[in-house]
Amino acid sequence: MDDGKPVWAPHPTDGFQLGRIIDISADSLTIEPLNQRGKNFQAPVNQVFPAEDDVNKHVEDNCSLMYLNEATLLNNVRVRYSKDKIYTFVANILIAVNPYFEIPKLYSPETIKQYHGRSLGTLPPHVYAIADKAYRDMKVLKMSQSIIVSGESGAGKTENTKFVLRYLTTSYGTGQDIDERIVEANPLLEAFGNAKTVRNNNSSRFGKFVEIHFNEKNAVVGGFVSHYLLEKSRICTQGQEERNYHIFYRLCAGAPEDIKEKFHLSSPDCFRYLSRGCTRYFSTKDSDKLIPQNRKSPEHLKAGPLKDPLLDDHADFNRMCVAMKKIGLDDTEKLNMFRVVAGVLHLGNIDFEEAGSTSGGCVLKKTCSQPLEFCAELLGLDEEDLRVSLTTRVMHTTAGGAKGTAIKVPLKVEQASSARDALAKAIYSRLFDHVVTRINQCFPFDSSAHFIGVLDIAGFEYFEHNSFEQFCINYCNEKLQQFFNERILKEEQELYQREGLGVNEVHYVDNQDCIDLVEAKLVGVLDILDEENRLPQPSDQHFTETVHGKHKDHFRLTVPRKSKLTVHRNVRDDEGFIIRHFAGAVCYETTRFVEKNNDALHTSLASLVSESKDKFIGELFENSNHSKDTKQKAGKLSFISVGNKFKVSLKITYFVRCVKPNLKMVSHHFEGAQILSQLQCSVLRNVYLFISWIDGLVKARNLKKRMEKLNEVVSGLKEGKQEMSKHMQELDSSINAHILKIKVCMREKEHVQRIFLKTPEEME
Ligand code: ATP
Ligand code: MG
Repeated sequence: MDDGKPVWAPHPTDGFQLGRIIDISADSLTIEPLNQRGKNFQAPVNQVFPAEDDVNKHVEDNCSLMYLNEATLLNNVRVRYSKDKIYTFVANILIAVNPYFEIPKLYSPETIKQYHGRSLGTLPPHVYAIADKAYRDMKVLKMSQSIIVSGESGAGKTENTKFVLRYLTTSYGTGQDIDERIVEANPLLEAFGNAKTVRNNNSSRFGKFVEIHFNEKNAVVGGFVSHYLLEKSRICTQGQEERNYHIFYRLCAGAPEDIKEKFHLSSPDCFRYLSRGCTRYFSTKDSDKLIPQNRKSPEHLKAGPLKDPLLDDHADFNRMCVAMKKIGLDDTEKLNMFRVVAGVLHLGNIDFEEAGSTSGGCVLKKTCSQPLEFCAELLGLDEEDLRVSLTTRVMHTTAGGAKGTAIKVPLKVEQASSARDALAKAIYSRLFDHVVTRINQCFPFDSSAHFIGVLDIAGFEYFEHNSFEQFCINYCNEKLQQFFNERILKEEQELYQREGLGVNEVHYVDNQDCIDLVEAKLVGVLDILDEENRLPQPSDQHFTETVHGKHKDHFRLTVPRKSKLTVHRNVRDDEGFIIRHFAGAVCYETTRFVEKNNDALHTSLASLVSESKDKFIGELFENSNHSKDTKQKAGKLSFISVGNKFKVSLKITYFVRCVKPNLKMVSHHFEGAQILSQLQCSVLRNVYLFISWIDGLVKARNLKKRMEKLNEVVSGLKEGKQEMSKHMQELDSSINAHILKIKVCMREKEHVQRIFLKTPEEME
């Protein structure tokens, strides 16, 4: 690199800048930036990379770059992004940068046709190319295929997943309404499972694995959606500037007057569960249309066209109703769902105060009789039973180890509030399960030969403050990483070893210990948290201390104060823990972990709802008894089942790695350093492994060639040596002959001397 050619050196905002090496010391280089002569700076040797000869040229597959490194990769993606080419390959991994605007014709029906049946690499990189390759592989190999779409929040996972579904149903569907239903299921799923967050106006708060099933003739016959890890805490509280699930606002804004009246709905700011975030609503004159005040801020108006600065809940409600109809839900089912949503809202408005008696219990606030009445009415419960179940808890006295009589223990204000929130979470998450079940019933299939599965998974998250949500998401990613390690790297590596290519081993970190730390029985963080929730007086602090105590010397866990990362020093040791994930260390602040995890329904509430007079509610809770323990770990279990699906059914997996170009969520803005950190810390970590593996492969190939040349020389040398030794032998023998001759001569000389050089005395 020190041949005077430009190099990529670190830059604080762009990620990398072009420069020239002007001096070299033991571990750092002095770089002169190309566009700022004289402003030399030092850079560590391992952060400086060779640049391509023409840095403005771009390639469709990063593997065809002359120098494959993180700087040339970033630059290639940057140049392409500036030309609205958002897709780039790294072998069969597709990088997709979110454009935040509609690129004309990029997803048009004509483009779909173009990619039909075309080999990878013959057309520009596209998510359609990946979808088609998966399809063709399924057909040829007669095996199910999978596409993993990952990336951070707002990177475009869900959009790309939808493009894959649209592509497959359009290209290989039978033209029947099943194709349409698979696509139309999304608006409904998103209404109940997506919410506005600070990172994405339409953020999926659950993971999903969508399967498109094909028959023997390789035509679409149906679909199936598995979901996991719905963010339940959002149902009761939201972060600043964030919202609850879309459906709540849509219903308040868009439902026809008669339904609003029937469900006692009014503006969202009348409901505690909707006003916990900072977004405050006001009603315009048109009372149907409710616009959050903060959307009037210049920041919101500046946003790009697809950022959707005016989330139009009213229009979205109508769109959602159309989708419901298309997938075959009738009005009764639709109203059932809406009724439960409204019931949850009223439940959230129930509040408690101290009873003022010696019992230490609580009662409903006087102002809460109406929410109680509405909630009971909408959920088919007896008002008085609901009141009692919310403020007391049934316990069984134990006499001599046997279960004794049931007694009602009064709950304190906080306990009753937790019970109310747990009920809301249980009802809503069961409703969400139901929505998914109903969706699955809308595209049934009798027989399926194979399927193509698309996993839309939130990527590794690491913010300044990380809470329970990040903990769950990162745990999921840890599992996905393990899957990647097992399936891709290990297998490929073994294959290459078998083929004797001698590729350098890719050193991936086995993360089983990290997964165990989270999910191990009894000592895993999740079990410790569950256990904490069962205590009479659970606390975040006690939970945190237990975690520290149980894992004192665990390699993956440390206390914040010990961290080298100064940013975490503000967190007290009993306020959090740091987990060393595969993608980096994250400090989790455990404040509200207990509350967010608390969705364990106490028995009296569970049986109350499962015995609801309302058939729909009753069915939602049909299996509530056995679910006491399992529901808490639903995320854990269902992820494993998704993981297992991968294990049994996959041969080849494709990866679409989505990248968020900037935090402002605007078009045509490439924040190099921010993107680089996505490449480095999470999103493309696997790509890197892949690159280093490919790199190893290339090097191995080169080495092989060089070895062959060396062998030639060596064998040449060997021949030469044989030749030489022959000469040597000849030389030896002629030398010996000469020596012999000399010896003979010497003897003759001595003889002559003896004869001729005798003294006169001797002569006599
Ligand atoms: P989360 O993890 O929060 O669910 P995500 O990765 O699923 O995030 P998306 O919801 O797919 O992100 O994308 C966020 C927004 O970015 C979309 O609502 C859309 O406005 C825009 N967007 C994403 N991909 C594209 C694309 N290919 N073309 C145009 N706009 C896009
Ligand atoms: Mg999403």
